[in-house]
Amino acid sequence: MQANTDLLARRERLLGRGMSTFYTDPVHLVRGSGVWLWDADGRKYLDCYNNVPHVGHCHPAVVEAICRQASLLNTHTRYLHEGILGYVERLTATFDPSLSTAIMTCTGSEANDIALRMAQAVTGKTGVIATDHTYHGNTTAVSQLSTRMPPVGGFGGHVRHVPAPDSARPLGGAPGAAFAAAFTARVEQAIADLEATTHGFSALILCPYFANEGFPDLPPGFLDGAIAAVRKAGGVVIADEVQPGFGRTGSHFWGHQRAGFVPDIVTLGKPMANGHPVGAVVTTPDTLNAFRKAFRYFNTFGGNPVSCAAALAVLDVLRDENLMENARAVGDHARHGLERLAARHDLIGMVRGAGLFFGAELMLDRTARTPAPDHATRLINGMKDRGILMGKIGVGECTTKIRPPMPFSRDNADLMLEVLDDVLATL
Ligand code: PMP
Repeated sequence: MQANTDLLARRERLLGRGMSTFYTDPVHLVRGSGVWLWDADGRKYLDCYNNVPHVGHCHPAVVEAICRQASLLNTHTRYLHEGILGYVERLTATFDPSLSTAIMTCTGSEANDIALRMAQAVTGKTGVIATDHTYHGNTTAVSQLSTRMPPVGGFGGHVRHVPAPDSARPLGGAPGAAFAAAFTARVEQAIADLEATTHGFSALILCPYFANEGFPDLPPGFLDGAIAAVRKAGGVVIADEVQPGFGRTGSHFWGHQRAGFVPDIVTLGKPMANGHPVGAVVTTPDTLNAFRKAFRYFNTFGGNPVSCAAALAVLDVLRDENLMENARAVGDHARHGLERLAARHDLIGMVRGAGLFFGAELMLDRTARTPAPDHATRLINGMKDRGILMGKIGVGECTTKIRPPMPFSRDNADLMLEVLDDVLATL
């Protein structure tokens, strides 16, 4: 505890005030392996939260790939190198054939920044539509979309927000067709608004799983109307796959495949190289060529040989260890366990999610659907004290965010559920 106080003071002195930490009493981690983490006192935690170490903390195949390439050569994309070509071939093979080209970046924010500029290059316009409870990153352009921290001076005239789909409180009053139609109508209205300005309409950007919005339960085809409206207006659809991508949802490799549409531009990040900083934008050759013509783009670190080796190792491990199927099977098992807990704990208002990205929305009143954010805070702190790391997210900030490394097992899920049962009983 004293050690943590000292570290927090040093952080504030060296890194500035207001850097966020998880948990009331933050964790000081020193080591990780698979789904496990250890703190400075040797205490072991089950990681139910981190998606960046996608194939497991410090996976030996990724560590080995990084070391091998780092000890051979690391340069940038102005020299010819096969690493980026081999990787982009493997990566794009997981998408619809139309999405056959890519630009590699170091973060998801950069990828989204490029995606917005691609949309500008293709449409000649700048207006963007996003949901009103989203986060797409931290560049000046992209932070215009994120509603958690409105930009200084307010949102630009080129930005419109539509209500984030919330299956606990559906627009249109009921789940199903009315919900989808109401969402489509809001997108159509935002397009018309933008077209009436000098900005015009260029793109709709969304996470196809609505991860930061609390991963609502949406019927298949929910987005069809909104996507048709975008295309009718000559705009492009950007799918931000930073969270649901790389097989996490269990049934599909990409969130947009699960949602049933083909985007014009896809952005990637977080899990892509297991913690090594790698992101990408995947799109059609025409869109990429239009972007390269409109903007001279070079990224010193994006697509370097070490990053490509790390990212390729992640694709190999996902395939060799059958981790997408593991996400499906263990995710189903864990969600059924959460549903059983819902029968015992009134606080659980709704269980949602797919594969290894799921959670329970805590509600003070199931009928009125009153969010319980304080209970969610107490729950995740209580879980941490019992050695289980998870987070909270969603429109009401009251949905547990359970999104562990992909090798998460049934035994891991059972341990998490057992402790959750205990901690819920104390709230
Ligand atoms: N898009 C989404 C959906 C995200 O959740 C995040 C990060 N949480 C980003 C983009 C930004 O990624 P990065 O932090 O790598 O810039």
